[in-house]
Amino acid sequence: MSEKAFPVKIGLEVHGYLDTREKLFCMCKTDSLSSSVNSNICPICTGTPGSKPMAVNAAAVDKLLEIALVFGSKINYKDLIWQRKHYDWADNPKGYQTTISGAHATTNAVGGKFKGINITELHLEEDPAQWNPGTGKIDYNRSGLPLVEIVTEPEFSDSEQVVEWLKALVLSLSYIKAVRKNAGIKVDVNVSTYGERVEMKNLNSLEKIRKAIEYEIARQIEAHDNGEVQERETLAFDEKLGKTIKMRSKEGAADYRFIRDPDLPMIVVDKKRVGELKRGLPEMPEKKLSKLLTKFKVGEKDAKILTRNLELVEFFEKLVEFGVDPGRYMSWITIELLRVLNYNKKSLEDEDVEVKPEHLAELIKVVAAGEITVLKGKQIMNDMIPKSFSLKDHKGEISSIDESAIENLCQQVIDENLKVVTEYKGGKDASLNYLIGQVMRLSERRADFKVAGDCLKRLIG
Ligand SMILES: [Zn+2]
Repeated sequence: MSEKAFPVKIGLEVHGYLDTREKLFCMCKTDSLSSSVNSNICPICTGTPGSKPMAVNAAAVDKLLEIALVFGSKINYKDLIWQRKHYDWADNPKGYQTTISGAHATTNAVGGKFKGINITELHLEEDPAQWNPGTGKIDYNRSGLPLVEIVTEPEFSDSEQVVEWLKALVLSLSYIKAVRKNAGIKVDVNVSTYGERVEMKNLNSLEKIRKAIEYEIARQIEAHDNGEVQERETLAFDEKLGKTIKMRSKEGAADYRFIRDPDLPMIVVDKKRVGELKRGLPEMPEKKLSKLLTKFKVGEKDAKILTRNLELVEFFEKLVEFGVDPGRYMSWITIELLRVLNYNKKSLEDEDVEVKPEHLAELIKVVAAGEITVLKGKQIMNDMIPKSFSLKDHKGEISSIDESAIENLCQQVIDENLKVVTEYKGGKDASLNYLIGQVMRLSERRADFKVAGDCLKRLIG
C-alpha cells in the first residue's frame, strides 16, 4: 500500500499530566498515581456540594507556558476564562470539567509547530476521577490533576509518523520538566480518509495508538470501497478485540453546554513571567544532539544514548568541563554509569541519587594515569550509586599493586595449579583465563588483567 494512494489525515489531542506538586484547584498532592486509592483527596477535588475551587495553581500555568514556548506558539495573555464543560459520567463528580477551552473560548496559546506538525492550540484543564466499570468504584486521586491538552492540525499521514512524533514530544517535555514522565499520556486520535473524521478516545499507550490508527484506516477504506459514506463519529478502540467500537454518532454528539465558571477569576498571564520562563528553558534534545556531534565530536550512537535524558547529557557536559576527554572515556558514561544505574534500578533524576560529575572525573583520571586498573575503577563505580564520593576519602581503594607483586602472585598461582598449567601448555587457551582469574582474586582485583596475563605467559614460558 503506497503512502499517498488515499488521502489519510490524522490529528491528535494529547493530554499530558503537568509536573506540579499540587492539584489544579486544591492543595492535594499529585503523586497520587502511585499512592493507594482515594488517599490524596479533599472536598474540592471530590466535588462535595458547597466546596469552591482555590485559585489556579500558578505552577501549572508556568508549565503550560513553557510548553507553548517550546512550540513557539502565540501566548494569550488575557480573556482566559475558565469554562464548565458539562457531561454526566461516574468519573465526573461535579457534573462538569473545568477547562480553558470550549466553543468560544480563548485558549492559553495558539499556533506554533513541533517537529514539522502545526499546533492548533493548547490549554489547561483538570483531569476527571478514575472510574472502574468492573467494580463500580471511583478513585479520586486523579480528580483535579492539572492536564495540558495539546491539539494538532490533521497533518499526520500514518501511524508510524504519529508514534515517532509522540516519542519526540514526550522527550522534549521531559527536558523542560513540564509533564510527568511516569504518568503517561492520553491521546484522542482523529482519522479521516474519504469521509468525515472519526475520533478515537483515550488511547493511553503508543502501541494502542499505532494499532488503533492502522485498524481504523483499513476499516474506512474497506467501507469506502463498499460504497459506504463515513459520517462524523466517536469510537473507542478495544485492544482485546483489536477493533474500534462506536461510542456516539454525529446525531448524538455531546453537547457540553459550556458556561463560564463563576467561582474562578480569569487567568492573567504576566509578560515578564513569560520572559523569565523563556530564559530558564534548557536546550532541547535536537540542540543537545547537534552540540554533541559537532562541538564534542561524539559518535552518533553515543550521542543518541546521552540525549535520551537531560540529566545524563548535562552530566556528560560537566564531565568534559572537569577535564575528561569525551572521546576516550565515553564508555564510562554510556556503558559503566548506565550499567550501575540500571543494576540499582535508578536514574540520575531520582531524588535519592546523588552522583557528582567531579567524582566520576576524578575516578576516570586515576584510571587513565594507571594508578588503578580499569577493573578496580569499575568496582569503585559500583559503589558510587546512589551517592558518589571523592577518592581522596577512600585512599585505601586506590593503593595500586606493582608488577613485582603481581609476578609473585602469578608464581604462586602457577605452583598451586600445575594441572591447569599443563593443560594450557597442551594447547587449551581457556586455561589461561582461569589462571588470570586466580591472580585477580589473590590481588583482590587490584592487579591489571593484561599485566597478569602477560606475566603468566612469560613465567609458564
Ligand atoms: Zn483536593
